[in-house]
Amino acid sequence: MEEDDVAASHLKSLECPVCLEVRAGLKMFQCANGHVVCGACVGGIRICPACRVKMPESSPIRCLVAEADIERLLAGRCAHREAGCAFKAAARDQLERHSAACSYRPLTCPRIGCGATIAAESLVGHLTSKHFQPVTDATGVYYTEDKMQAGSIKGYMDHETTD
Ligand SMILES: [Zn+2]
Ligand SMILES: [Zn+2]
Ligand SMILES: [Zn+2]
Ligand SMILES: [Zn+2]
Repeated sequence: MEEDDVAASHLKSLECPVCLEVRAGLKMFQCANGHVVCGACVGGIRICPACRVKMPESSPIRCLVAEADIERLLAGRCAHREAGCAFKAAARDQLERHSAACSYRPLTCPRIGCGATIAAESLVGHLTSKHFQPVTDATGVYYTEDKMQAGSIKGYMDHETTD
């Protein structure tokens, strides 16, 4: 197996069975049989979703190994990993540059009154399907309503950042 496959299957084994996510920066907990549950979900369950053993009621069992593994495995990974981004950086400044331009970064729809949060790569699709009708004529493709040009949508996306 490639190193990346090992990391991917290890990450999969650290996935919380309640929210189905692996998130950095959360405390991790485990049942008496060692199945992990994330800190965001542990308060809401009485039995382990994997083996149905009763979870300890007053003090859930912390799982430091899982926390450390998650931090290590997610190091250098794009924050928009869950949205589908597979980017992995070798250096920290590389990750920051990527995040600002990541095609999976969430953007707020620029249409007044909409305000939906859309992954950057889906924004043009959202704008055209929800707000504008594309029309093709001799001058190229433009969008009805205020004739927003395809280029100006692209311009918005190139300049928008999420911070
Ligand atoms: Zn969870
Ligand atoms: Zn269990
Ligand atoms: Zn990314
Ligand atoms: Zn919208």
